[in-house]
Amino acid sequence: MSAIDNLPPLRNVIATHGLSARKALGQNFLLDLNLTAKIARRAGDLSECDVLEIGPGPGGLTRGLLAEGARRVLAIEKDERCMPALAEIGAAYPGQLQVINGDALEVDPLSHLTPPIRVAANLPYNVGTELLVRWLTPAEWPPFWESLTLMFQREVAERIIAAPGSKAYGRLALLAQWRADAKIVMHLPPEAFSPPPKVHSAVVHLTALPEPRYPADAAILSRIVAAAFNQRRKMLRGSLKGQAPDIEDRLISAGIKPTERAEQVSLEQFCALARTFDA
Ligand code: SAM
Repeated sequence: MSAIDNLPPLRNVIATHGLSARKALGQNFLLDLNLTAKIARRAGDLSECDVLEIGPGPGGLTRGLLAEGARRVLAIEKDERCMPALAEIGAAYPGQLQVINGDALEVDPLSHLTPPIRVAANLPYNVGTELLVRWLTPAEWPPFWESLTLMFQREVAERIIAAPGSKAYGRLALLAQWRADAKIVMHLPPEAFSPPPKVHSAVVHLTALPEPRYPADAAILSRIVAAAFNQRRKMLRGSLKGQAPDIEDRLISAGIKPTERAEQVSLEQFCALARTFDA
């Protein structure tokens, strides 16, 4: 019998520890361990990896990650009420689970992790997007993580994998696809969660590329993309006017028509435009 079989069902864990879902913490729990094991498998081979899990809650995904063979899991959870439930999982997997009771936006987990590191999380959507942007924009590349397997509201997942010409295409797609491979690996209906959220969800798996897909300075690219999509309905010669007096020439030399709008421009073209600003 594996260690997971000795732990009580998640519904009992929630009842025993009084973990009524709190809206303010974005608590929509996954209670089906077959489903959490499936999500854990989407994170790849974990046997040689430390896994950083954000927002374990009562520990459904944590149990999935450990049952699927993660070498170690470091879990950061803001809700103190979840600590006893997570301690029970730690007891079933001695030495393999460390839990930090804190806010993932403030705790720096790196000193507690040994590479290779993969990240897995079912997080409140606002926290998830903020952490994703941080994980995609470190000062140095490659980043500390090999892959990110993250649950998002379906619309956000679609923004991450969007292609030029679609409504969902924007800063998040460009940030993600410049230095990572990003794909949606699972769709989940509201009923998969307890309580069910109002929206559909999807799991996105991102794998860090060893180098950016096209050369560009990260700060310049980020500035141009932000300016271009801040006024996404405008022609680029207008939205990027403040970037340089000769912006039309720069756009043309990057292979972009000055009359085009941001959502028609590919990642490769944005990188070419960023390079015209290189010193
Ligand atoms: N992973 C669990 C699951 O799949 O059942 C719980 C998912 S629930 C959507 C989000 C979890 O993130 C909750 O347990 C919540 O308390 C926690 N959380 C919310 N904000 C957080 C933050 N800033 N840092 C760490 N955990 C947070």
